Amino acid sequence: MNKPVSIDWSQLGFSYMKTPYRYVATWKDGKWDQGSLSEDNQLKISEASSALHYGQQCFEGLKAYRTKSGQIQLFRPDQNAKRMQESCKRVLMPEVSEEQFIDACKQVIKANADYVPPHGTGATLYLRPFVIGVGDNIGVKPAPEYIFCVFCLPVGPYFKGGMAPVNFTVSQYDRAAPYGTGAAKVGGNYAASMYPHSLAVKKGFADCIYLDPKTHRKIEEVGAANFFGITKDNVFVTPDSPSILPSITKYSLLYLAEHYLEMKVEQRDVYIDKLDEFAEAGACGTAAVITPIGGIDYNDRMHVFYSETEVGPVTKKLFDTLCGIQFGDVEAPEGWIIPVE
Ligand SMILES: *Cc1c(COP(=O)(O)O)cnc(C)c1O
Repeated sequence: MNKPVSIDWSQLGFSYMKTPYRYVATWKDGKWDQGSLSEDNQLKISEASSALHYGQQCFEGLKAYRTKSGQIQLFRPDQNAKRMQESCKRVLMPEVSEEQFIDACKQVIKANADYVPPHGTGATLYLRPFVIGVGDNIGVKPAPEYIFCVFCLPVGPYFKGGMAPVNFTVSQYDRAAPYGTGAAKVGGNYAASMYPHSLAVKKGFADCIYLDPKTHRKIEEVGAANFFGITKDNVFVTPDSPSILPSITKYSLLYLAEHYLEMKVEQRDVYIDKLDEFAEAGACGTAAVITPIGGIDYNDRMHVFYSETEVGPVTKKLFDTLCGIQFGDVEAPEGWIIPVE
């Protein structure tokens, strides 16, 4: 059995920690094997693996939450499973069934249950499922074999001292092409984002905003998170584009804004030179949950939304509702919460 863990849950950030067990399955001869848990955190793969040379891979990110009563639960893992299938299709990898995906996540959580942070700390167990093309291959073509792995690590709350807004700058670079892989969670998109990210950080910003790759007039992504704005007449707006990564957090917020906060919601173009329409803005994703956007730097002018130091009331309400559901304190829409029994 696991050794008792001594972790200061309040000090956790978002950095790698080796936990005892991970799930590994292999695809060979046209099918996935049933997979198993392993204590080894090293993968041994061919030097000619297509994941290494041609970026034939994809990943997911989701969290396990500890409720007040001590239960562990997942938030919409079926949506991560479906998105990973779409990513696999886009880079010609075999899909993992929803059933195998969720079962793998549950096995990893149960085997590492001591690493699921206690309720009330705001910390969670982050799961990182991924699929990589492996095996001997040198031409640009799909790999002969694949590995599906899920590992996990405890991560801290994004906001240690409460929700503080951060500032972003608009990048001149693109993270994806108009009909490229922007909607797939594939590694190449993230390799492409590291340099623009470093430029933004050098200028003193948290990250950069990517505009649509075709016209450079509309907001697409905020670093590796989706954008939303609250208009001055209280409409929840989020951009619509085929090169945006479809964030499960974003779709959840669209639903919660409409059905829990009784707001109007819209998915439509958001023009970078029309930010005045918004009273508040934020970035959303599993890792960031909701990050309030203080301001956006564009053409050497800083556009401030609600405040550079305080979170706006609607953003705060959305955050409290979403986290309440994820940690089991607020009643969830049907099918959103999957208990890990
Ligand atoms: C993963 C990711 C998101 C957030 O998606 P969630 O499902 O909400 O975690 C947003 N943008 C990019 C580019 C991402 O990779």
